[in-house]
Amino acid sequence: MIPIAKPLLGKEEIDAVTKVLSSGMIAQGPKVEEFELAFSGYTGCEYSVAVNSGTAALHIALLAHGIGKGDEVITSPFTFIATANSILYTGAKPVFVDIESDTYNIDPDRIQEKITSKTKAIMPVHLYGQSADMKAIMEIAEDRKLVVIEDACQSHGAEYLGKKVGSFGTGGFSFYPTKNMTTSEGGMITTSDREIAEKAKMIRAHGSKIRYLHEMLGFNLRMTDIAAAIGLVQLEKLDGFTAARQKNAAMLSAGLKGISGIVPVITKPGRTHVFHQYTIRAEKRDELADFLKEKGIGTGVHYPVPIHKQPYYKELGYRDSLPVSEKAAEEVLSLPVHPALSEDDVQKIIREVKEFCAKA
Ligand SMILES: *Cc1c(COP(=O)(O)O)cnc(C)c1O
Repeated sequence: MIPIAKPLLGKEEIDAVTKVLSSGMIAQGPKVEEFELAFSGYTGCEYSVAVNSGTAALHIALLAHGIGKGDEVITSPFTFIATANSILYTGAKPVFVDIESDTYNIDPDRIQEKITSKTKAIMPVHLYGQSADMKAIMEIAEDRKLVVIEDACQSHGAEYLGKKVGSFGTGGFSFYPTKNMTTSEGGMITTSDREIAEKAKMIRAHGSKIRYLHEMLGFNLRMTDIAAAIGLVQLEKLDGFTAARQKNAAMLSAGLKGISGIVPVITKPGRTHVFHQYTIRAEKRDELADFLKEKGIGTGVHYPVPIHKQPYYKELGYRDSLPVSEKAAEEVLSLPVHPALSEDDVQKIIREVKEFCAKA
């Protein structure tokens, strides 16, 4: 079976973890700080704050900007649930704006009409590894005095006009095992605002800068040195992983060109795509997924239900009609693109998709 995702962990990660375990310092310690510095160097942000998940990174980023009850945050409905849930945790209200049909990212042309006096932030998601339209989004944010929090959980290293995602506003990254790099569970907040970084560090550790002195309500959302040690090794390997993803994606795109019944992946000019997912549209999506499964190829649907249609959000009263997201949810299919694929694997994926489309 060719899996849809596979973390690549080797001797270097095992050695790094063993060292931490032998040191006896296994909670947040020097490795976390080292990882934060390295991650800042990578993204070009001045500060990074390591936490125990991508969800925690987004939650803390919102809190650090003072977002809470009575506030509205504009975001995409076509994303993993954590994006919107992180907004709900703060007491604020997620306001959904429909997506672009080609990149699956929030459509900047539809943001203005959803801005109210309560809007405090825009949270674009760089879905599948491709940056949202950051020029347009930053212009709206500056004009309307809104905070920008980037959900960069799927886009480590992706660039928009030569600038890395997570460095436009305040960034939130995930290091879950299926992501482009992993720490097992883990996340990172990125910012060049010193005050936001300091606040984020406090929120991560029960609202304290000085031990046992608590200035605000915080949580325990710390990363361990064990996770950070894995992250340091993975960060070294990230550019290699990305190059392998991009090479696999280029082969898939060349092989699947011009086949009827599917819509290929589109990378907009000025953006580098880091291919967290290689997501096509297929008219007969579910049949294609079943067919590929039978042939030993794992696929994924990211995501089958847009957030405004999730049972819990319907219970909260969401009744939006967001047709571009709703149609995408019916048609998208992610094919394996991860760096553990062999060239034969990629050729097999192309062959089987072609075979299905020829018959269909
Ligand atoms: C993975 C992911 C998250 C959450 O990250 P976790 O580390 O799983 O908490 C948030 N947003 C998006 C778009 C993601 O893909």
